[in-house]
Amino acid sequence: MNRSSARSAATPLTTAPVLLVDDVSKNHPGGVTALDRVSLRVDEGELVAIVGPSGSGKSTLLHIMGTLDRPTTGTVHVAGHDASALGDRHLSALRARLLGFVFQHFHLTDGLDATENVATGLLYAGVPRRGRRSLAREALARVGLDHRRSHLPRQLSGGERQRVAIARALVNRPALVLADEPTGALDAANGETVLNLLVELNAQGTTIALITHDRDIAARLPRRVELRDGRVTADVTRAGSAA
Ligand code: ADP
Ligand code: MG
Repeated sequence: MNRSSARSAATPLTTAPVLLVDDVSKNHPGGVTALDRVSLRVDEGELVAIVGPSGSGKSTLLHIMGTLDRPTTGTVHVAGHDASALGDRHLSALRARLLGFVFQHFHLTDGLDATENVATGLLYAGVPRRGRRSLAREALARVGLDHRRSHLPRQLSGGERQRVAIARALVNRPALVLADEPTGALDAANGETVLNLLVELNAQGTTIALITHDRDIAARLPRRVELRDGRVTADVTRAGSAA
């Protein structure tokens, strides 16, 4: 299956891509070129692995895709919105509405239980408090953690913490979930559970870009973008479907 036939028949061809990175370079202070003329398009419904060795520019690219950082040159469009044309306040609003983030070390808040942690994903989305709790509980159910909703992060395993973080990323129904090494801090069994969960959420329609240095993980996903020294060296869509 190629990328255009993988589109849902319900998606009009005129829909803007979820993400368009066009000719982006990023120079860090000290003369490091972390990204060198990277272009990347992600369409609705995709599950893309961005893979490369340490230092190849993966995290820099994820930050730029997520509008957390700005490119030195080139442009980023999220669901048709030109990030370079927006000021910081508008960018925060765009992130709150359109993006979800998952990090290697979960970034949960210690004093909040699972439901409250997930509800923080809606703090800037204009949902009233009670609505936030019920949406948070729905999102926890989607990641299989209904029975852990009153647990604090320290009462959860690493895999469960990452599932809470995934629920927080999903709760605003984002156009795109960006995950930076989401299994990187987990043992093999928990990593497998989290990867399978992401594959399943994608099968249900969530668009995901997942960053990894693990070639085995990348090889299991429907599309693999390879980075090396800040350049895209391969962009391969697999025949057949995910893991
Ligand atoms: P990866 O996530 O693939 O390991 P990074 O995007 O973190 O790669 O880093 C790419 C390159 O940019 C590396 O050489 C790194 O040292 C450099 N780099 C990353 N962030 C900064 C920064 N804030 N300041 C200076 N150099 C940086
Ligand atoms: Mg990194």
